[in-house]
Amino acid sequence: MNSTANTFLLRPRSAHLSSTETNHAIAGPGVAATVDAVVIGAGFAGLYATYRLRQLGLSYAAFEQGAGVGGTWYWNRYPGAGSDSESWVYSYTFSEELAQAWTWSCRFPGQAEIRRYLEHVAERFDLRAAFQFNTRITRASYEEASARWRVVTEQGVEVCARYLITAVGCLSAAQVPSIPGLEQFKASWYHTGQWPHEGVDFTGLRVGVVGTGSSGIQCIPVIAQQCAHLTVFQRTPNFSIPARNAPLSAARVGELKRKIKQIRETCRWSTIGQPYDWQDAQALKLDPEALQERFEADWQKGGFEWLFGSFRDLLADPRANALAANFVREKIRSAVTDPAVARKLIPSGYPIGTKRLPLDANYFETFNRDNVELVDLRETPIEEITAAGIRTGCKPMRSMHWFSPRVLMP
Ligand SMILES: Cc1cc2nc3c(=O)[nH]c(=O)nc-3n(C[C@H](O)[C@H](O)[C@H](O)COP(=O)(O)OP(=O)(O)OC[C@H]3O[C@@H](n4cnc5c(N)ncnc54)[C@H](O)[C@@H]3O)c2cc1C
Repeated sequence: MNSTANTFLLRPRSAHLSSTETNHAIAGPGVAATVDAVVIGAGFAGLYATYRLRQLGLSYAAFEQGAGVGGTWYWNRYPGAGSDSESWVYSYTFSEELAQAWTWSCRFPGQAEIRRYLEHVAERFDLRAAFQFNTRITRASYEEASARWRVVTEQGVEVCARYLITAVGCLSAAQVPSIPGLEQFKASWYHTGQWPHEGVDFTGLRVGVVGTGSSGIQCIPVIAQQCAHLTVFQRTPNFSIPARNAPLSAARVGELKRKIKQIRETCRWSTIGQPYDWQDAQALKLDPEALQERFEADWQKGGFEWLFGSFRDLLADPRANALAANFVREKIRSAVTDPAVARKLIPSGYPIGTKRLPLDANYFETFNRDNVELVDLRETPIEEITAAGIRTGCKPMRSMHWFSPRVLMP
């Protein structure tokens, strides 16, 4: 269903509605229509909301500002983008048929595969036709007197609804840092959350990446392999755990499908919704050697389980947390060959697990490459973006980082 500027589709209540209330295209700005529910967003949440509304026999209108389904996975197409949740967990749970029909290729699926999954879901359950794409909702207000929401699209079309479901995502608004001078930058810059659909070829270019959160940690190793030179601008060093992503064998797929109900039941009751939970054992009660062995064995498994499926005092007792943090600091120290660079990459000043913990694929090792440079913004803060690069510095020393012609802001 492709949208046009001033029309939208109403999904009717199911069978019991009269024909006058069925699927109408309503034309013209300012035209108000009434439905039971309005859904905003065509990501995981919005697709499921429309599925449920239809099951409940309610009428609805659904809107998405992008041109297709996928939400997070429609927008975040940067190199290396992917899930840090295991594929068999990062899936819908409402349909056993879907769980059996869909086969994930690997442990941590990339953006393209997750988007394919959501397109498959939209297709399988006929959800795409419910959405008016390329349509941003700009206003929603609740009227006490009528107990109705008035929802307005960017084109000025107004819909009234008893229920408003804002499936707009927690991370769907790109945050471009307000660095002075960005508007003067002559070369190209991109935000990971609004990545060009046609991709970006970094071959032979000098690139700067500003930010080392989860998206930065995913894209930096991939871009470093392609570009001529990469400068990473880091404000706060991040702890990161190896993902150890790998393809799923046919035998493993079969096992996961057989056990899927049991896996989901574990997730449902686990503290962070994963198929594992903190164990009764406490890090502080183990002797140091046994603790290191256990940390190391879990580290080799990859994934969040290292922290969230481990000792229950790691996020409850600062002394236990410090042991885990020191283990990761040692891993960074041994991964990075230049001790001065390692020092800058080693996080301090906050407990491990209190910022979103990224998973990575050779993130720290990437700083051993000849074409990668790390700028510590706590030593030399960004002063401005100029026509040709990013100026960092602290008096009396100032340095200029030149880019021709790409800067990235994850
Ligand atoms: C790079 C990245 C990696 C992630 N990895 C994981 C992970 O490993 N595990 C995990 O659990 N979570 C992860 N997340 C979080 C992820 O956002 C959620 O898991 C999930 O995809 C959110 O789904 P959603 O439907 O709630 O929102 P979204 O997927 O964000 O969808 C919201 C949709 O609403 C639309 N929208 C917003 N405002 C409007 C408006 N005004 N009008 C019309 N449309 C609007 C947006 O365009 C968007 O398409 C990750 C997020 C990112 C960005």
